[in-house]
Amino acid sequence: MERRRFLDCCAVAGMAATFGKQCFGMSPEEAAAAPDDSVAGLLIADPHAHPYQLHGARSFDRTTPTIETLQRLNMALSSFSAVGDMTFMRGRTGMPFGDTRNQLEVLRRLESEGRVAVVRKASDLPRQGVQRRMPCALMAVEGGDALEGRLENLDVFYAHGVRLMTLLHERDNELGFNQRSGADGALTPFGLAVVERMNKLGMLIDVAHAGTATLKGIVSASDTPLIDSHTSPVLPGEDGAVSRRLRTWQEMEMIVRTGGLICTWPLAYAGKQSRRTTLRHWAEEIVLMKARFGIEHCGLGTDGGGGLPRVVDGWESIASLPALIAAIREAGLRQEDIAAFVGGNFLRIFAKCLA
Ligand SMILES: [Zn+2]
Repeated sequence: MERRRFLDCCAVAGMAATFGKQCFGMSPEEAAAAPDDSVAGLLIADPHAHPYQLHGARSFDRTTPTIETLQRLNMALSSFSAVGDMTFMRGRTGMPFGDTRNQLEVLRRLESEGRVAVVRKASDLPRQGVQRRMPCALMAVEGGDALEGRLENLDVFYAHGVRLMTLLHERDNELGFNQRSGADGALTPFGLAVVERMNKLGMLIDVAHAGTATLKGIVSASDTPLIDSHTSPVLPGEDGAVSRRLRTWQEMEMIVRTGGLICTWPLAYAGKQSRRTTLRHWAEEIVLMKARFGIEHCGLGTDGGGGLPRVVDGWESIASLPALIAAIREAGLRQEDIAAFVGGNFLRIFAKCLA
């Protein structure tokens, strides 16, 4: 999620009440009526998204997926990410742990209504050739701030159903340092304890937003593969000045060496030497990453609903995936590469991390 959007957010209190029939209204039959041929047979999984904006953004974000969006694509799985540092944003009250738990209640309600199937163990994961009654949901927290510095809070989230946590978000926290922070500080002793506990519990560690030194600490501490769930590489000839949210090739290599995954997102930007403003640019970037790391380390992570300031032309939301697939195909990738990129790789790595 982007800081700019945070500043425009309101309290979660009463948020569930705002999700009326207009969000949940379409029947699964209606929603599933028009699947797109180009996604047939693909297991699509988005490890970073904010369906229904659990964090309670005030203004509508056109990238935000709904269950109907997921059903129309016959998506296998989507992250439903709560935001762990919302209470530090303007106009928000409360404490991070309770606030994050409240956000996750919206997903628990969808689960109890039989609208999504929350994944808690490897056998819950969607599989090729097995019919799905509803999309699978990955309960996630973006920002380890939600732990309030207490390891026992991680256990509470795990019991709740959280299986992925992005350790850092928009600020330096008790675990480590953010990509945009002035200090490139190391993973803290508490951050180290969280990594070890997440490994033990069977939770996937997301290094998105982590600064370089903190990332190094996570890489050397973790026994299981890591993911960066939403980023983009610094392009050849650039020095990273275009956006500090991008990853250098050296940083990405560290993540890849854990057996991990780099997920690219639809953020659009243009610098002096680089332009990343079209689906074609995104597709060319995936080809570049495949050449460098192998396709098995490349994935999709849309940050849908995360308030990206600008997205590439032709991208509205995850519903635009067929257009990205067409661009990837045109850039030269084969069907098996596409299947790996849109979800196969993520599901393989996630299964490995789950207890
Ligand atoms: Zn984010």
